[in-house]
This record gives sequence, structure tokens and C-alpha cells, in this order.
Amino acid sequence: MKTHDYDILIVGGGLVGASLALALASRWRVALLERSAPPQASSEPDVWDSRIYAVSPGNRAFLESMGGWRVPATRVGNIREMDVRGDDGGLICFDALDMAAERLAATVENSALQASLWQALEGRVTLIAGSKAVAASFDADRASIELDDGRKITTALAVAADGAQSWLRQAAGIDFERRPYGQLGVVANFRCERSHGDIARQWFRNDGILAWLPLPGNRISIVWSTDEQKSAELRALDGEALADRVAAAGGRQLGALQTITPAAAFPLALGKAATVTAQRLALVGDAAHTVHPLAGQGVNLGFGDARCLAEMLAPAHVDDPGAAHLLARYARARAEEVWTMQTLCDGLQRLFGSRDPVLAGLRNFGLSMTNRAGPLKRVLMRRAFQ
Ligand SMILES: Cc1cc2nc3c(=O)[nH]c(=O)nc-3n(C[C@H](O)[C@H](O)[C@H](O)COP(=O)(O)OP(=O)(O)OC[C@H]3O[C@@H](n4cnc5c(N)ncnc54)[C@H](O)[C@@H]3O)c2cc1C
Repeated sequence: MKTHDYDILIVGGGLVGASLALALASRWRVALLERSAPPQASSEPDVWDSRIYAVSPGNRAFLESMGGWRVPATRVGNIREMDVRGDDGGLICFDALDMAAERLAATVENSALQASLWQALEGRVTLIAGSKAVAASFDADRASIELDDGRKITTALAVAADGAQSWLRQAAGIDFERRPYGQLGVVANFRCERSHGDIARQWFRNDGILAWLPLPGNRISIVWSTDEQKSAELRALDGEALADRVAAAGGRQLGALQTITPAAAFPLALGKAATVTAQRLALVGDAAHTVHPLAGQGVNLGFGDARCLAEMLAPAHVDDPGAAHLLARYARARAEEVWTMQTLCDGLQRLFGSRDPVLAGLRNFGLSMTNRAGPLKRVLMRRAFQ
């Protein structure tokens, strides 16, 4: 068995793993292991990934600063305003102007951003695509990972960036508390008759939460978080019927819709790893935590992990990237933001998921009051859009 040694091995080359690899590349010998083939981006005007993310300005700047955001402007949407409606007249609006910013977030395809990150990584880190890790062990000095092609990698720090079902987290024996929401996130993309005006729209409805995110041109991407029966119903519709159902659910605010990417669905769960570090191991992104997509914060929290870990490992005096005291600092530094975002998204999901008529009145009143209460609204905006 041939052994290769690196300072840091990242398992999982999704957005979070790839951004971390890029942030560490100039300081450490890094390898990035991804079980799938390298990502491909589409440039066809009517071929769009069903996974669209709203990336906060701070995280976009992080990616741009490393040359990782080379996504053509024709594939990037802007969220300038966000209009959120309750199920009984409640309303809250967020406007980039309130933060003296150009936009609240940018919308981008998972595949386009991943391809851009991988391109930036070429020649800077060792990219191992199409191989899987099959065994892992950890001791005081090194982590050892065996691949299915017979290679063995030793490293001072292994990073689990391999998503919510993380293999590496399980191999390290770390528990993951998963509370399913009994919902799926149904995603699809549409062309719309009227301009969306760079406004994201969200409705808390009796049958779930529907979000319309602006894409470039007259296109939108939707996430409809709804129960299993409704999600199966939506996925069974043909393109025309789906477009009509989605347009009607949003009060036809953008006129008629036309489906450009058929519906796909992802199960939704609140997830928390019992610990985000262990001997010679750190967890980042969905491997460490998952949140309800209602605030579009999942991948943003993951970028936050990558930024934080990279910052801790950047100083010239750090000579061991897997040192226990550094990992403990990383765990402490991320705890508050992750807890706040999970609690906020989970609380909103429960509040609007309840059928209690008293709560219905209160939650709509609460939304409108928050809209009027400047300081609280500004705190929310700083959390979600920086
Ligand atoms: C419906 C829906 C909508 C969402 N919308 C948003 C949004 O608008 N904004 C937002 O911020 N977040 C959103 N999210 C959350 C977002 O999808 C995740 O938070 C994000 O993808 C996590 O990125 P990651 O890199 O940690 O994990 P992943 O994207 O899951 O990447 C993990 C990578 O690891 C690889 N891998 C897995 N196992 C192995 C292995 N054993 N060996 C090697 N490689 C492996 C996988 O192939 C994959 O490439 C949404 C989620 C859902 C379900």
C-alpha cells in the first residue's frame, strides 16, 4: 500500500470542503478527496442546476478574495429585497438599502460555484476525485485514511466536509442528532412572465413554506418545504401543471411561470454533531450541522466554518494544524453562530408549522412588529445577510 503524507486532508469536495481547501492552499500541503467526478457547470441559457444557493455578501467576498468566485455574471442573480409574508396578514421586508449594501445576497448554482472553486484549486492542492475513503484511524500525531484504490493518506489534520451523512464523522465514532422535519424541500426553476425586480419572496403557508429566489433574467428558483404527501404530488405534476401550481401559490405575482428545471426534492432535518472536533479531526459544513432551508443559511454556515478554521490555521507560528488547542478554539468560535441560526430557523419552522389559531394571530403580529421595530430587524439582517 502506497502512503502519501499531507498537512491537511479534506474529505468531501462540495462547496464547503473546496472553499476550505482553497483558503488553506497557500499555507499548507493540502489534499482534497471527493468521491464523485469533478463538477461541471452549464452555460446553456435554459439548463440550470436545481440546487441554487443564496450566498451572503461576506461569504461571496471570502470566495472572491481567493479567486474562487469566477462564475459568469450571466449565471449570478441578485437579492436586493426580501418580502416575507405570514399566513394571516403578517409581513416583514428586508431591503439592502437598510444596510447601505448593494444586495442582501447573490443567488448561484451549486454546480457553477463548485466548478469555479475546483478550477481555482488546480495546481494548488492535490485533487483526488472519484475515490472513496474506506478506513480511518486517529492517534496522537496523525490521522490515517485508506482509499478504495489502495492508497493510504496520513495527515496532521483530517477534515470531514462530506455532507450530512458524513462517512468520516461516523468512522470517528461521533454521534449526530438528527431530527427530521417530516418535510421535503421541493426545488425547481422557472421562467416568469414579469420581472422579479431582484426581490426574493417567501410565504409561510398552511401547506409549508414557499420561497421564490431571483435568478438572472426573468427566472426564479423555488424551494417549497412541505410534507411528504404534498411534495410527492408536486413532483408528479408535468412541467405545465407544476408551473401553474407554483404561480397560483404565489398569487401570480410574476404572471405566468414556465418550468425550466423539473422538481427535485431533499429531505429536511435539524442535525447536530455531538462534537465538531476530535483527535486530529475537524467537522465543517453539513457534516457538523444542518438547518431548515427557510432562511437559506445552510451553505453560509458551512462557509463560516471554513473561514474560521482557515483563519485559525493561517498565522506563521502555527506549526501543527491538528493541534488539540487549535481545534478546541475552532469548536468554541463556531458554537454561538451555529446555535443561533439553528434555533432561529427551527423556532420559525415550529411557529409557522403549528395549527393553533392563537399562535396564528401571534406569529403574524410578531412578523409585522419585527418589521416596524428597527433594531431587532437590523440584528436579524446582520445575522443573515453579512
Ligand atoms: C432544499 C434545500 C435548499 C437549500 N437552500 C440553501 C440556500 O439557499 N442557501 C444555503 O446556504 N443553503 C441551502 N441549503 C443547504 C445546503 O445544501 C447545504 O448546507 C450545503 O450543500 C452543505 O455543503 P457541504 O459542502 O457541507 O456538503 P455537501 O454539499 O453535501 O457536499 C459534500 C461532498 O462530499 C462528498 N462526499 C460524501 N461522502 C464522501 C466520501 N466518503 N468520500 C469522499 N467524498 C464524499 C459528496 O460527493 C459531496 O460532494 C439547502 C438545502 C436544501 C435541502
